[in-house]
Amino acid sequence: MLVLALESSCDETAAAVVKDGRTVLSSIVASQISVHAEYGGVVPEIASRKHLESVSFVVEQALAEAGVGLDRIEGIAVTQGPGLAGALLVGISVAKGLAFGRSLPLVGVNHIEGHLLAVFLEAPVQFPFIALAVSGGHSHLYRVDGIGRYQTLGQTVDDAAGEAFDKVAKLIGLPYPGGVAIDRLAVSGDPRAIKFPRPLLHDGTFNFSFSGLKTAVLTHVGKHPEAKEAGINDLAASFQAAVCEVLTKKTAAAIAATGIKRLVVAGGVACNSALRRSMGEYAAANGVELSIPSPPLCADNAAMIAVPGDYYLGLGMKSGFDLDALPVWPLDKLAARLKEHC
Ligand code: ATP
Ligand code: MG
Ligand code: FE
Repeated sequence: MLVLALESSCDETAAAVVKDGRTVLSSIVASQISVHAEYGGVVPEIASRKHLESVSFVVEQALAEAGVGLDRIEGIAVTQGPGLAGALLVGISVAKGLAFGRSLPLVGVNHIEGHLLAVFLEAPVQFPFIALAVSGGHSHLYRVDGIGRYQTLGQTVDDAAGEAFDKVAKLIGLPYPGGVAIDRLAVSGDPRAIKFPRPLLHDGTFNFSFSGLKTAVLTHVGKHPEAKEAGINDLAASFQAAVCEVLTKKTAAAIAATGIKRLVVAGGVACNSALRRSMGEYAAANGVELSIPSPPLCADNAAMIAVPGDYYLGLGMKSGFDLDALPVWPLDKLAARLKEHC
């Protein structure tokens, strides 16, 4: 099936044309990063307005690059949540208009489900697998038994990993989004220079906590102002090492507890070079089959939305024109929706 997918949950306006949920014919992403960088983070009202400005062009570009007209599209998939309500509504409204105008089936997709399945656009992964979603709003460990069948094993009790990167970057004077800036500086820093805490590492759960780590960085730069100047590479590397160690060890614990030796790491923070390295080393040493999408598929995009979208549309699952944005939408809820339909 040829699916047109739309994504507008946060600060990227994206559209993609994907064949059979596997082959990307086009994937266009218009980022608003430069606009929000001025404010040090995403401003919801501005995000919605920017989506409105870009969405038509992004859809046209996706169709043009794929070399197909709207008449060839067989279904529409759109991010329904989680995300910023006003931002989500832009993609949803356009998707509804296209579906109505062309009498096409429409399905609402969970953004995090898209992140977890993005890797299928490069190489399929056998079920079940363990998945770590690390992004601006999520640090979640899941057991994945199939498309639509997710069980949360653990999650952050406060900040998400990406949020921690962004907040720490801001407090040491780096631009938004902070993850990229910290990753870059950390390359020439010593990850052992500063011993930051490893929160919840031994608490026996699969939960994460990153807000204490942010406070630890704040306390450190308060006592050692030079850490923000000449010492900034070591600071970035040490903070990043703490985040990566916790993410890798908790994921390892989930794999050990479930005996499932297949792992997917997904979401914007999965672009992080130290995390990719640390997960790679752990997987190689423990016979775990590791899949991490290439960086453009880790970051927000619409192609990833087409993977579950194509599957659900193939099952005949359709959303009505009353489809509404779901700013909060835990993945565990998807199993019931699937069961209701099948
Ligand atoms: P969610 O997916 O939870 O709804 P989101 O869509 O806003 O949130 P993503 O776009 O998936 O989040 O990821 C963005 C996050 O990834 C930002 O917090 C950003 O700092 C982080 N990030 C991007 N690249 C890197 C990197 N190289 N290292 C660390 N973090 C990174
Ligand atoms: Mg984003
Ligand atoms: Fe995302």
